Amino acid sequence: MDIKSLPLNELTEYIVDKGFPAFRAKQLYTWLHKKLIRDVEEMTNIPKNMRKMLSEDIVTLTLAKKLESAIDGTKKYVFMLSDGNVIESVFMSYKHGYSVCISSQAGCRMGCRFCASTLLGLSRNLTVSEMLDQIYYIERDTGMRISNVVVMGTGEPLDNYDNLCTFIKMLSDENGLNISQRNITVSSCGLVPEIRRLADEHFTITFALSLHAATDEKRRELMPIAKRYSLSEVLDACMYYFNETGRRITFEYSLVAGENDSVSDAKELIKLLKNYPCHVNLIPVNPIKERQYKRSDKNSVRRFKELLETNGINATVRRSMGKDIDAACGQLRKAHIDSSKGGTKDSTKGGSSDGSKDDSLDSSSDRLKDSTKDGSKDSLK
Ligand code: SF4
Repeated sequence: MDIKSLPLNELTEYIVDKGFPAFRAKQLYTWLHKKLIRDVEEMTNIPKNMRKMLSEDIVTLTLAKKLESAIDGTKKYVFMLSDGNVIESVFMSYKHGYSVCISSQAGCRMGCRFCASTLLGLSRNLTVSEMLDQIYYIERDTGMRISNVVVMGTGEPLDNYDNLCTFIKMLSDENGLNISQRNITVSSCGLVPEIRRLADEHFTITFALSLHAATDEKRRELMPIAKRYSLSEVLDACMYYFNETGRRITFEYSLVAGENDSVSDAKELIKLLKNYPCHVNLIPVNPIKERQYKRSDKNSVRRFKELLETNGINATVRRSMGKDIDAACGQLRKAHIDSSKGGTKDSTKGGSSDGSKDDSLDSSSDRLKDSTKDGSKDSLK
């Protein structure tokens, strides 16, 4: 049993079932989620026989690699999971506090064309504890109190829906790290049924939609998910999210030189989002060697932002963090997997490392299959 994935009520049931009093569950939960203790032997107020019973039940991540940026102190972590999969997380220091970007899946099957995380396909969903432990490990390692969490690393969070929701509840639990839901951001490429489901949870998190293009035609070129859900369906779901939660949507727009950064692209975006309660986060794309996409130059980025703002759309440009340590989504994980090929087990599956089979959805998860309109496994190919 992976007890670190259990919310307090479920942990209590488990502990009582094993013949221990309920208050022991609360003590255990505090050790795991507040004091961030990884070794059961350090839980000094837990009786020996209970510690023995729990010795196999605490799953933790192992550090495989850590890099620190000399430019801005960003730290990038590659973690090894108990089955040999690898994931990555990023620690960033901002004026307003310390932030961690976590992965929600080992790999990704969404196939966004500018993203390194999808090049090897999806291996599996992360458990709740694997998502939490990225933050716990980094908080212990840096000695800093993490105040913001973004679920924006490898994986499509809404493709791991149930674990994501439990993760949000546990991360914001006052018996744990008690991070305000307002300081948690979940980013999705646009799984329409799950956006509506998330709205119905009535969390107070920030929801960010990866938009990246203002027309269906252009979006389909960049993101296979756009072949499944049209922009009008995605925007309707986002409006539903806003109406249910009162939380303004963040639209992420990666600027790719010559692809979606022209004046006419900006005008299309203005037409699309005019009067929409939102914020646009412009992200000059991080080039990856397997793709020909190039980052927009500074003038194009400035022009794009100004056009949005003069038309009443709130926009910011995301600062690039950790440029000297391969901090773009998925790059370090992929480099680690590539370098260990032939040595350790490569637990990812899917396309070749040159990205030749990369833009179709993997069929290994039933959830996305269920959420398609036609239910076919490969309808985004
Ligand atoms: S951008 Fe996000 S959803 Fe798209 S392939 Fe990368 S990790 Fe997956």
